[in-house]
Amino acid sequence: MKKRILVTGGAGFLGSHLCERLLKEENEVICLDNFFTGRKQNIIHLINNPFFEMIRHDVTMPFFIEVDEIYNLACPASPIHYQYNAIKTIKTSVMGAINMLGLAKRVRAKILQASTSEVYGDPEIHPQTEDYWGHVNPIGYRSCYDEGKRCAESLFFNYHRQNNVRIKVVRIFNTYGPRMDPHDGRVISNFIVQALNNKDITIYGEGTQTRSFCYVDDLLDGMIRLMHTPDDFTGPVNMGNPGEFTILELAQKIIDLTKSKSRIVHEPLPADDPMQRQPDISLARKTLNWEPQIPLEEGLVKTIQYFKSIN
Ligand code: NAD
Ligand code: UDP
Repeated sequence: MKKRILVTGGAGFLGSHLCERLLKEENEVICLDNFFTGRKQNIIHLINNPFFEMIRHDVTMPFFIEVDEIYNLACPASPIHYQYNAIKTIKTSVMGAINMLGLAKRVRAKILQASTSEVYGDPEIHPQTEDYWGHVNPIGYRSCYDEGKRCAESLFFNYHRQNNVRIKVVRIFNTYGPRMDPHDGRVISNFIVQALNNKDITIYGEGTQTRSFCYVDDLLDGMIRLMHTPDDFTGPVNMGNPGEFTILELAQKIIDLTKSKSRIVHEPLPADDPMQRQPDISLARKTLNWEPQIPLEEGLVKTIQYFKSIN
């Protein structure tokens, strides 16, 4: 029997790929989005599918529907977007979690939270394991996002303990791919757009800070596997590609792959920018038999193709 699945934030980068994938797997999909950072363009190709519905709605308001599963992705993800209206970002994470958990409780749906590596803040242990509690500045510019997501995790676990809601929590590390917003300021989209236009590549700070980049298809594979685990497995579980690169290495790779004439320039490092980030994915390997399959270069080629097509 078809499952009916709600995807909040379904018109965004990850959400739109997830809707597509869940439809391919013969489910009925309801995509809910307020279009803050998402776009109709991301899901326009799904609109004629009779098993797909798009609803304009803000997760800070209660929402009633009968569904079997909920993927809660609604929340701006890039620093520029989540700091644009910091209070709204907190409301989206916290009130959004309360509303979606309330819904899951009422209709007995299973619910997955898209949490983030940002719950570890600027980590003091490396690579990060799920039992690390993090090093987060609670009053900094990133706190609207980090602390909002941390509070959402707390809500998930309390609804689970108090009300037996079936929860899954995934901590997503930097993920990239086609349909990233070219203007949201994330490093991969910024560098590719700059390189394709032979504009300066803007490295913040020295470029010695590191990130680990996961291709979108790999991540979704892991998220769907997590949703299908037995009810006694809640996570949190890290998901990302353990391949770790400095931002300078990333810039050079993108220049090479695009054969760009861009120069590298340095700009000030934003406040509280984490110095290093790499997921320890032992738990996902063990419990989900999951690990990323797409190396950085291969994923970058696909992403560059996408940005060329919209450039
Ligand atoms: P995105 O900005 O492309 O997508 C977020 C979607 O949520 C957008 O469509 C936006 O319009 C929608 N949204 C925002 N506020 C909303 C609200 N109040 N009500 C309804 N819809 C709302 O970002 P993304 O990269 O696709 O991220 C999706 C989720 O994954 C987010 O929760 C993000 O925190 C998490 N995540 C992403 C990454 C990554 O690298 N992409 C890393 C860690 C966590
Ligand atoms: N960054 C950069 N130049 C840019 C955009 C980002 O050097 O044009 C750096 C940023 O300072 C950070 C890293 O790249 O150290 C990743 O930034 P992003 O915003 O993509 O993600 P996050 O910091 O949330 O991991």
